[in-house]
Amino acid sequence: MGVKRIGVLTSGGDAPGMNAAVRAVVRSALHEGMEVLGSVRGYNGLIHDELIEMSIRSVTDTIHRGGTSLFTARSPEFRTEEGMQKAVDTCKRHGIEGVVVIGGDGSFRGARDLTARGIPCIGVPATIDNDISCTEVTIGYDTATNTVVDMADKLRDTSQSHDRCSVVEVMGRHAGWIALYGGIAGGADVILLPEIEFTLEDIVRKVELLKALGQREIIIVVSEGATIGGKLLTLDEETKGEVRLGGIASFLSTKLETITGIETRYCVLGHVQRGGNPSARDRVLAARLGHYAVQMLKEGKSNRVVAVQNEQLVDYDITEALDMKKPFDMDMYRMANEISG
Ligand code: ADP
Repeated sequence: MGVKRIGVLTSGGDAPGMNAAVRAVVRSALHEGMEVLGSVRGYNGLIHDELIEMSIRSVTDTIHRGGTSLFTARSPEFRTEEGMQKAVDTCKRHGIEGVVVIGGDGSFRGARDLTARGIPCIGVPATIDNDISCTEVTIGYDTATNTVVDMADKLRDTSQSHDRCSVVEVMGRHAGWIALYGGIAGGADVILLPEIEFTLEDIVRKVELLKALGQREIIIVVSEGATIGGKLLTLDEETKGEVRLGGIASFLSTKLETITGIETRYCVLGHVQRGGNPSARDRVLAARLGHYAVQMLKEGKSNRVVAVQNEQLVDYDITEALDMKKPFDMDMYRMANEISG
């Protein structure tokens, strides 16, 4: 007999398109004759037996919504043996034979641990940062990048009116994908990322050159995790000496204005990047990955992450996926520099 009942949950940082993924999982599973239980607040729902019977109708009117209607959580309890055992017991009690885990790397570690305890799991990559190595794209990344572009466009309007320099800080503690793609699409003059080291002198030189060439507004897009002169400026405990609280955008705009005399403002986009209606691209990606995850469970597969490579759906063992490294797109970064300002 095939799989009769599965679970689905969204876990870790939320991302636009998670609802579309849940919808695809629920409807694909129902189509296969399976029943689906939604776990509320990620792994917490499994630990505390908070499960919702999902029907075709329970995912109606969710495809266009950001956030996640199953809610999400960071669950420290799930990282304990006791918490994990409770989750396993809940699955067994309800006859859950497989779980689709929609989230990031942390959530996949949890999925691997749950699989090892007898509950087959399939991971679906969803995070705005696009920092899951086994896949070219993650659910939420396209929407977040579009939000950055939208904001950069607006800032450009007002920067131009005032001959200002604008520093836009975007999400990405360790990965510069949002800054790179958002910066290119937003026509940024300078893009600063965690993957590349910059000095303040480099940035000042570029800004002064652009001004000398007659450019009115200057747009700098910077990842929250970028460093200047090897110093990380986002975490309070790392801000020593002249580097003050407030993150890299605040630091950089103060320095630029002082050194160059050009009026400079900064804007930290923050959590708006996580919200909003998912783009068409994210909805389609979520539909494909969610559907594929259910096919995996149907075929009796477990401990896999579904992913996209060369625009095709593929899947990897979770441990293998967690060990993979996604090389930074240096060619894209060089191109961005060549066509800026
Ligand atoms: P993301 O999935 O976005 O990377 P987190 O890193 O917060 O987000 O992970 C989400 C949840 O996955 C955590 O709250 C925890 O319950 C579970 N998790 C994270 N890391 C592990 C781990 N090493 N082992 C087991 N479970 C983990």
